[in-house]
Amino acid sequence: MLTRLNAKSDGKLAKQLCRVVLDQFDKQYSKELGDSWSTVSRSPDRMPSERHQTGSLKKYYLLNAASLLPVLALELRDGETVLDLCAAPGGKSVALLQCASPGYLLCNEYDSLRVRWLRQTLESFIPQPLINVIKVSESDGREMGDARPETFDKVLVDAPCSNDRSWLFSSDSQKAAYRLHQRSSLPVLQVELLRSAIKALRPGGLLVYSTCTLSRAENQDVISEILTSNSTIVPVDISGLARTCSQDFTFAPTNQKCSLLVLPEKGKAWGPMFIAKLKKIVSTGKW
Ligand code: SAM
Repeated sequence: MLTRLNAKSDGKLAKQLCRVVLDQFDKQYSKELGDSWSTVSRSPDRMPSERHQTGSLKKYYLLNAASLLPVLALELRDGETVLDLCAAPGGKSVALLQCASPGYLLCNEYDSLRVRWLRQTLESFIPQPLINVIKVSESDGREMGDARPETFDKVLVDAPCSNDRSWLFSSDSQKAAYRLHQRSSLPVLQVELLRSAIKALRPGGLLVYSTCTLSRAENQDVISEILTSNSTIVPVDISGLARTCSQDFTFAPTNQKCSLLVLPEKGKAWGPMFIAKLKKIVSTGKW
């Protein structure tokens, strides 16, 4: 069941909101976010994407501005060894490379179709000299920790999640209902990816976890679970980043100093985006 099409002023049709998803979100998020949920914007405007052309670099990558926050939180420095554990389609990998020149960047993605998309993104945006420091792998992120123990200075886990914004515009309401039903299994996968990422991180290294959902079960609860079950990792206060960006983003309280939650409000319609920052303080030990 879908709401009717909205005609936009440029004559194009606006995306449709999927009623089943909206009803579920109304129920869950009004409980979790209180009054803040009623101010959340559901109608972003879009710039056109550029077409892929083999051999030529594109001029811009369309990225939700909130997607830059996990990248900035990682504080990448020149020469560092970096892992982007769930990398496709590659928006954050491209943004990472705009922050500094890593010595090595491993972009990993599990889904083979999405790996092709990732390769295309890198080919379209990364000039030759930088391409040489990037490697693409197609592994289950849950196995990366055992495959590359204590290798990386920085790890980004931009985890598979409910993806509220795209689910809200699902064109197939049956598929949308199925996804909502499957939603409860995501935190298990997210915790497993984080455990693997922690193993792959060298002592002293930083890890950023991000999702594009407002769901507490996939955000704060996943971080709490990791912090209580893993003594090699500590939370890193991220409130400075929120203060720096407070003009551009609306943040909801998370009750965790190491995490931020961006609400997509009208006029600041970026997000949803959850970001958490952790530091590995000692070796994971036996691999
Ligand atoms: N970081 C990407 C970007 O900025 O363009 C978006 C990543 S998206 C939120 C999450 C990705 O994780 C999806 O491409 C999905 O296929 C991938 N994924 C799902 N399960 C995975 C796993 N077990 N290991 C690695 N990646 C996985």
